[in-house]
Formats: sequence, C-alpha cells, structure tokens
Amino acid sequence: MATIIPLADMRAESRSDALATFARDAALAPAVPGPIADTRGRSLSDLRISVTDRCNFRCVYCMPKDVFGHDYPYLPHTDLLTFEEITRVARVFVGMGVRKIRLTGGEPLLRRKVERLVEMLRGLGDVDLTLTTNGALLTKKAKDLRAAGLSRITVSLDSLDDATFRAMNDVDFPVAKVLEGIDAAAAAGLAPIKVNMVVKRGMNEDSIVPMARRFKGSGHIVRFIEYMDVGATNGWRMDDVVSAREIVDAIGARMPLVQCDPNYRGEVAERWRYADGGGEIGVIASVTQAFCRDCTRARLSTEGRLFTCLFANDGYDLRALVRGGFDDDALARAVTAIWRQRDDRYSEVRTASTPRAAKVEMSYIGG
Ligand code: SAM
Repeated sequence: MATIIPLADMRAESRSDALATFARDAALAPAVPGPIADTRGRSLSDLRISVTDRCNFRCVYCMPKDVFGHDYPYLPHTDLLTFEEITRVARVFVGMGVRKIRLTGGEPLLRRKVERLVEMLRGLGDVDLTLTTNGALLTKKAKDLRAAGLSRITVSLDSLDDATFRAMNDVDFPVAKVLEGIDAAAAAGLAPIKVNMVVKRGMNEDSIVPMARRFKGSGHIVRFIEYMDVGATNGWRMDDVVSAREIVDAIGARMPLVQCDPNYRGEVAERWRYADGGGEIGVIASVTQAFCRDCTRARLSTEGRLFTCLFANDGYDLRALVRGGFDDDALARAVTAIWRQRDDRYSEVRTASTPRAAKVEMSYIGG
C-alpha cells in the first residue's frame, strides 16, 4: 500500500511530477473516512470543466493575439479528455458532493457536439449544469443545449458599443450577434441569463452604465467582473482594475441600488437590486475583495488536470489515473486527498509584486 508523501517533501521531483505522484499514491492508499474539507474548512461543491483550450475570440485581457497567434501550440485532440472521460470524472465529483458543474474553456461551443456532453452530464442527476460562452455560436446551439439538459447559461459581453466590443474581442465580432445569441438562449428556455462584463480601465468603463441600463428590467443579470491577473500573458496591472465599488457607485448614481443577501454561502458575485424593482446586478470583486475564504471550486483542465485555484501554476494529473486503469473509488480517494490538503488563497495574499510568470492561462484552466 502506498504512503502519501506530503507535497512539501517532494523536492527531488519537479512540482508537476510531484502532483502526479501525489494523485497516484492517494488513489492507491486506503480511504480515510471523514468530511471532504480542505485545510481551511472549505467544502467541495462546484466543478468547472474546460472542454477546449481554443477560442474564436482574442479578448485582449484573456487570449491576446500576439501570444495566441496562428502558431500557438494548442493541445492535440488526443490530449483532451473525451466526453466519456469527462463524465466519469464528473460522476466521481458528484459522488463527493459537487452540485454545480460549469462547462467553459476556451470557447466551449467550439468543442464538437458539446450538447452530447451536456446530455451525458445531465444523466448524473440533480446538478445545476451550466455553461459560459462568448455567445458567437449561441444562436445556432441554444435549442440543442436546452434540449440536452443545460440548466442555465452565462454569456460574456464586454460592451454594447460596437467599436469597443470589436476592439476587446480583437476579431472584429459585432455586438448584435451576441445579443441575438442571448435572445435565442432566452427563447430556448435558458433564462434568466447571466451576462458577464469584464471591466478594464481605459477600454470599457464607459460601457458600465449603458450595459446596466440595457438589461435592467429584462430579467437577465449583468455581472460586472474586476479585471483579474489570471495567466501570464495579458500584461495585467493593478491600475487597469476598475473596482467593484466604483462600478456600483457609477450605476447607483443613476439607477439607485440596494445591496441584497447572497443566494448561498460562497456566492462569488455580490448582489445588488434596483430600488425601483428593475431586477438585479452582480459585481465580482475578486481583486479588491477576495473571496478565497468561501471558495468551494475545483477546476478540471482540458487535458484532465485538477486545479484547486484559478491562480494555480500546476494541476494534478487525473487523466493519468483515468487512462491508467484506476477505478472510480480510486479516483475518489485521489480527489479527496487532493482536496484535503488544499490551502490556496491566492487572491487574499496577492500583492502588486506577486510573480506572474508561472500561472496557467484561463483559456486552458477554464474561466
Ligand atoms: N469563451 C467563454 C467566454 O468568453 O465566456 C468562456 C471562457 S472565458 C475564459 C470565461 C470568463 O472569464 C469570461 O466571462 C471572460 O470574460 C472572463 N475572463 C477572462 N479573462 C479574464 C480576466 N483577466 N479577468 C476577469 N475575467 C476574465
């Protein structure tokens, strides 16, 4: 029987090898009874799955064109987890208490027949099954996604001003087509829709109020996201962050807002409702008000690495276990051991001088 060596003691191996070794040894070790909570008492209730590292947009804050050019070495198809493998891993997580699964990427609607994956995951039972998309292919896909069992959808849209939006997605994609996708999703029964807007100073802060106004009263919920220092390629600077406070103040000055209670413990968006009953907005203040304390999310990368933080620099190779003949119980033991030793709280300890070179890209780990 293998003994699990604490990661800190694995100095002889590279960290990536150490994580793979840790996962394998934990899969081989006997189960340790008890709650599945990490070193800070956080449970595991949320799984984000990246289904592709490719995207049809080149958003300047996420996949800048000068890095993600024609010769960028995306993962070969054989490295990607298959739908069967993803479903198997997800089943293990659901067995461990996960109740929310989000498909993301890259652009998840680029993965061929992703609605088939939705159908397979729906077969896992009572989970909140959702997907984040840039909306470019949504008009075509909305009905099939709903029919396959998708519960809800989040659409990213950074501005209603066409020139601004085209400059931010950097592939000249028009606003109108994303709005069409949002309407198609609503018509297919995926409403209320969440609309994600990343705010980057000097690029789209003038779009905050128009965006709030456009969706006020629509039933959809705009979520304004502070520009984050994910990955190592977007040239993030603290000066480019428009804080959640500024965002709420800008909207509230024109359309009075009242803060609401979270829907559940660990909800990342701070909720605000319009005083006149016109619905609500959310702000995600991951830079200025870190929410690590309540983070219950695990992330499965496109090639099956398990990351316990969006800002991690490495993940545990679950694909090696999936393809290495380990059964579901062994996988569950590995994930349990990984979760129990989790101590990530990057956003709480981030400083302007935190080194950025090693972190994985959001398009790979899944946003
Ligand atoms: N392609 C899909 C999309 O555009 O929604 C899904 C993947 S994308 C990485 C998921 C979300 O992450 C999007 O809402 C995107 O705007 C957000 N995002 C990407 N980079 C970000 C950053 N540096 N800071 C904050 N949010 C970011």
